[in-house]
Amino acid sequence: MPATPDKSHLKSLSLSTLEAAVISHGQPRYRAEQILRWIYQKRARSISEMTDLPASLREWLTAEFRFDELALARQTGSHDTTRKLLFRLRDGRFIESVVIPATPAEFGETSSRRTICVSSQVGCAYGCKFCASGLEGWTRNLGSEEIVDQILEAERLTGERIQNIVFMGMGEPLANFENLTRAIEIINSPWGIGLGARHITVSTSGLVPQIRKLAELPLQLRLAISLHGATDEVRAQIMPVNRKYPVDELLDACSYWQSRKKQHITFEYILIDQVNDTLEQAHELSRHALRLSAKVNLIPYNTVEGLPWVRPSIRRQETFLEILRSHRVKATIRREKGHDIDAACGQLRLRHERETGIVSAA
Ligand code: SAH
Ligand code: SF4
Repeated sequence: MPATPDKSHLKSLSLSTLEAAVISHGQPRYRAEQILRWIYQKRARSISEMTDLPASLREWLTAEFRFDELALARQTGSHDTTRKLLFRLRDGRFIESVVIPATPAEFGETSSRRTICVSSQVGCAYGCKFCASGLEGWTRNLGSEEIVDQILEAERLTGERIQNIVFMGMGEPLANFENLTRAIEIINSPWGIGLGARHITVSTSGLVPQIRKLAELPLQLRLAISLHGATDEVRAQIMPVNRKYPVDELLDACSYWQSRKKQHITFEYILIDQVNDTLEQAHELSRHALRLSAKVNLIPYNTVEGLPWVRPSIRRQETFLEILRSHRVKATIRREKGHDIDAACGQLRLRHERETGIVSAA
């Protein structure tokens, strides 16, 4: 018998797709909106909770669509500190999301906004030399529903609303372009989670064609570039993607982004001792930032077990920052709260897999 194709997940559908489905089932169009209200406003966790839908429609939904949720496998941190959630997916793989209680200054307005850092893939194919997410390679893309559900589950588990979303968890979001943009539509739409595009930041290691494609979307998303090296020589040493898309091409794509969105981008720059934290790199980085009026987030490297890189001394970090500031570049150093709970993305999954020996329960 041929295998039945996997059913669509209700949390991966846009309003128009669901409308087309209910209409083809002989139901009025407004039912679609009603279903989505149950999911995103009332936060129903099962189809049987959707009590104002006719029983026949509920049966049809149950037969035609999936409506499961991510399973929490492990949680670290506490209420008022960074909380890290490790989720088990349907196929036994693990991903992680990090909830940060207040928005760090580098994400824009300082306020008490809660931020979630979400994953976009299981593993990562880009193999940056300093990153835990890429250590075991790429396994698969996340479906839109698995992206959306990280937010729904984090809100449910913490009992608090999230106001900012950053795609800085495991994976390269722009390498999962379709599912990413569908998830963003659901997160952003009034019929979905309803979070303003300005509160959604996509971080990329620099996939030039996809940056240009994303720039075409009529959404005021924010873009962060993982630069981590100001010259090809230094950047290619730690980020293999630089061989495909060198710094100049990347900066051109950034300037295209800005011309389309009329909005400044952010450079993420991890400081790794003796690798990319030299004075020359600081001057060169300043030049790039000034050209694009970009903001720079300096991130002292978070040690990853098994990797040789170390974080520079505070003094070296400050010197680097001072150079940027002497050029009048807007720059901050992330004094992140999550250092002690493996908050650099990909690290909790790695530790969990090493401790339990479980990589996949499938
Ligand atoms: N793939 C995307 C998004 C996920 S990585 C990207 O590379 O932008 C999110 C951020 O975490 C990136 O800026 C990445 O460089 C950074 N990061 C990865 N490992 C880190 C570590 N050990 N310490 C500090 N930041 C790290
Ligand atoms: Fe992948 Fe980003 Fe990690 Fe590089 S830094 S390996 S692109 S997740």
